[in-house]
Formats: sequence, C-alpha cells, structure tokens
Amino acid sequence: MDHKTLLKKLKLGIQLMELHDENPFKIRSYQSALTAMDRGDFDIMELSDDQLTQINGVGKSLVEVIKNLKETESFPALDELLEKTPEGILEILQIKGLGPKKVKVLWQELGITSTHELMEACQSGIVAKTKGFGEKTQETIIQNLEFKASNADKWLFADIEPVFEALAEKIQKISSSAQFAIVGEYARKMEIISLAHFLLGTNNPEKVKSALKAFEDIDWDFTKSGPNTWRGKLKEADLHVRVDFCAEEDFLWKKLSLTAAKGHLLSPASDTETIAEKIQKKDYQSEEEFFSKNDLQFIPAEMREGFGEVTLARENKIPQLLEDKDLKGILHNHSTYSDGKHSLRQMAEHCKALGYEYLGIADHSRTATYAGGLEIEKVLKQHQEIDELNKELAPFRIFKGIESDILGDGSLDYPKDVLASFDFIVSSVHSILNMDVNRATDRLLRAIANPYTTILGHPTGRLLLRREGYPIDHKTIIDACAAQNVVIEINANPWRLDLDWRWVRYAMDQGVKLAINPDAHEMDGYLDMKYGVLVGRKGGLTKEMTLNALSREEIAAFFAERKAKIK
Ligand SMILES: [Zn+2]
Ligand SMILES: [Zn+2]
Repeated sequence: MDHKTLLKKLKLGIQLMELHDENPFKIRSYQSALTAMDRGDFDIMELSDDQLTQINGVGKSLVEVIKNLKETESFPALDELLEKTPEGILEILQIKGLGPKKVKVLWQELGITSTHELMEACQSGIVAKTKGFGEKTQETIIQNLEFKASNADKWLFADIEPVFEALAEKIQKISSSAQFAIVGEYARKMEIISLAHFLLGTNNPEKVKSALKAFEDIDWDFTKSGPNTWRGKLKEADLHVRVDFCAEEDFLWKKLSLTAAKGHLLSPASDTETIAEKIQKKDYQSEEEFFSKNDLQFIPAEMREGFGEVTLARENKIPQLLEDKDLKGILHNHSTYSDGKHSLRQMAEHCKALGYEYLGIADHSRTATYAGGLEIEKVLKQHQEIDELNKELAPFRIFKGIESDILGDGSLDYPKDVLASFDFIVSSVHSILNMDVNRATDRLLRAIANPYTTILGHPTGRLLLRREGYPIDHKTIIDACAAQNVVIEINANPWRLDLDWRWVRYAMDQGVKLAINPDAHEMDGYLDMKYGVLVGRKGGLTKEMTLNALSREEIAAFFAERKAKIK
C-alpha cells in the first residue's frame, strides 16, 4: 500500500457511504480530511498516529481507518459496504461525472446494476427522462462509457491508428540499424487491436535493446519478457506492446509467421505440408518468392487469417482486391434534414470536391424521431432541393435516398408512393434491438422482400466493443438478398464495420453486391470509407462486387432498373 492507493481506498469508502446513505456528518468530515491529505505534501504512510491527528478533519475514527488500511489494505466499514454493493455498481461509480447520488438513482429507481445496462438505458433515452439527469448528462454518460470500453486494453483500429503509427515510427527510428516490421493484428488490419506487435531483425541485438530499454513511451514488463520477446505497455494509451528480436537472416520467415493468424499457418499449403512448415524451410528470398515457390498465389497480409484464403491461393482464385480509388461515389449519408451536422449542400459540395461522381443522401425516416426522421413534407422539400442542386453541380449527381427504419414487423416506414419517389432505399433496424435469432432474421427477411429495399443497412446493428449485434442467421439473410437482388452494406463507421468481413466472401459467392457506406453524419464522416475498404479487403471484396465502385451512369441505371421491376 502506498500513499496514493490509500487515498483511493478511502475515497471509495466515502463514495459507498454516500451511496448507502450513511451519516452525512461523518461523510462530510471524512471528505474534508481526504481533501486535506490529498493536498498536503506529505506521505501518509510515513506519518505517526499523532501526526495524523494534526491533519485538518482527521479525528480518532479516521486514524483507526488509516491504521487498518496500512495494515490490511482495507477497513471493516469498507468491507461491509463492498459486501452489499453489486460489482457493476462499483464500476459505474468509476465513471466520470456520476457521483454516488446519481448512481443511487440509477440503481434503485431504474434497476441498473451494470455498465451494459446503463448503456442500454442511455441509448433508449430513459436516463435523460429521469429526474436529475437530462439529455446532456445522458450524452456524457454515453461518451464516458464508450471511452471506458475503448480503453479496456482493446481498441478500434481507427481509434488506435494514429497512436500506433506514431509508435511504429519511433521504434523504427530508435532501432534504425535493425530491419523493422509491423506484424500481428495490425499488419492484418483487424477491426479490433489489442496488441502492438513489432519484429526487429538485427545481428547486434544488445545495441538495439539498450536503446529500446531507454525508450520512455513504454513500460516494459521484464517478468513477462524473454531474451527474444519483450512485452510491455504503452504509457500513453492502454495498449499492450510486444517486440520480437531475431537475427537478420531469420527476419523474413519470422515476419511471415508473426504476421499470419494461427489458422493461416495451420492451413495446408500442399497435400502434405502446412503453411507453417513451408515457412520453416527458409528457401526463399522474399514474400513473393515464398508463395510462388510453393505454387501459391500471393496472399495479401490482411487476408492471412485462416479463412479459406490458402485454398483460394492454391486454386488461383485470390481476386484483385478493392482499393480506395475504385470507389466512385458515396451512399448512405445524413444531412441536417435529419441528424447530420452539415447541410445537404455542404455534404454534396464536399463529396464533389473529394473527387467523387455522386452522393447518395439517406436521412432517417419518420419513425426515427430521436434522429429527426423526415415527415413526408420534408421528403418532398428535400427532393426539390436535390433537383436544384443537381442542376447546379452537374455532372455531379445527388441520388435521392432514405434510411428507412425497418419497423418491428419488418415493414418499411412510408406508404408505397413515397417509397417509390426515392432512387434508392437503405433499410436498417434502429429500434427494438433485443430480439432472438428467429425474430431478427424474420424481421430482416420481410424488409429484404420489400421491393423498395435497395440496400440492407448495418445488418446486425452491432457497435464494436460497445454492443453486440442482434443475432441473425447470416446465410439465410444473404441468400434472401441474392434472391431479391438486394445489396448489403458494409457500414464503414469504425464502430460498426457491419456486415462483418467474415461474411463477405459468402455474400460474393451468392452474387450479392456490397456497398461501402460511411453513414456520414458530417463531411469528415466520408473519411471512414477507408475502414470499410480495409475490412472489405480482408473479406476478399473486389471492385466488381462493390456497388459504389459503379460510375454515376452505371449506378443510375442500376437504381432505375430495380425500380422498373417493381409491380
Ligand atoms: Zn442506421
Ligand atoms: Zn445512417
């Protein structure tokens, strides 16, 4: 126990006393003593009982508490309070901006006992409606919960990307005499990153190691490290770091094996040997040569997951993967007509300025009242504005779309004549997310069967690291999309990346096209397209199977043709 930890425990004790309605005078005196101890420039561990009593607010009972803390790292009252407090409540108490009084309301009035339940309650808006909370507090809680989730040693690729890249650059610089590679999850562009993994090839490891040892950004944990593998944690963010050292002549085969997922290494590269066994032979001078020498098509790093890619490579079926530059337009975007930050004009002009040929606007439909969903009159008004902008911005084109809520029974959110007025419709579930697999699948199937559905939006509703999606029978859904010629979205928002890349190949094999949609709620939202491309590539997505790789004329024809078929 040290000074800081002791104060932390005391603080927890005070919070719990408040939570459980203990004597307010006692709470207040403890609180003022804590403040004094926090401000004083002394080490509490070194003070005698006598010296303690001289601190403002420290009376007899608190001296006893501190004594207990020093000896047992706790005190009886704290143990008692912990006993009657659910673990989730303790977690909620740690959330910034939520004092014991508010936590008590959440617990006793709303029955919330976990951070998960708290997030649900915030997302459904119940918290904002509770006395003493309001919209703003609810928003803060959501943000803090997100923050917490993203800090729990796991990161969204997009969130950690800048930190990771900066770290990689520094390590490369520090160990400049060594060969350097980023390996592991990040090299494979995984949607979630839990480890920053690097490989250094050097015949002078001592020099590199001493430089790395002095590197202040990382807390090395030498109890968990070996001579060739160092582990630690980045100080700036809760990110685990691993550095592997090898001799220069081992660099290439090490890089191949540390980049790949286990499933890839164990995949049969021939009738008799696995990829791992082939790698061990070390009879190649480059990655390209490794593959060609083993009669395999080159497998891009992001695909080395053990997801059937080795079989494809053996059959020469690894396709040319989609690239950023293949995308010709941006579908599924919001404007100030619903819950977007920028106006339709701003969204359109920015899209055009980025070099795209078209924009698909898809504001929320009327049931999404929480997101300013569009009543029918507003739809008409938007269509008018789009017509005017299209004249002005030609040949650039805005396509009239809507993100239609899929209602509880699977129907769409407007009467037929209104649905018919759109160029395309993204159908998405936004409410009643708590469904079992049968109900969720049936609901989506009905929406897919609706001839006005062009694109199935974020199919599972998941928010990575935050909320599991509702369970769906992926094959049934994809098969239905194939039958109805419905496109499936890869929602490129880094929180979503939904459809999951693991289903991309199945979808393509059934002839289902995918759309890389940023679901932008502001101009900068377009930048998320990149993450959709990354996961699309992981799933083997090609330009040919990407809806928004179509040119303006091609996609206009695609929309028109679909509409013409509706009876
Ligand atoms: Zn949506
Ligand atoms: Zn949307």
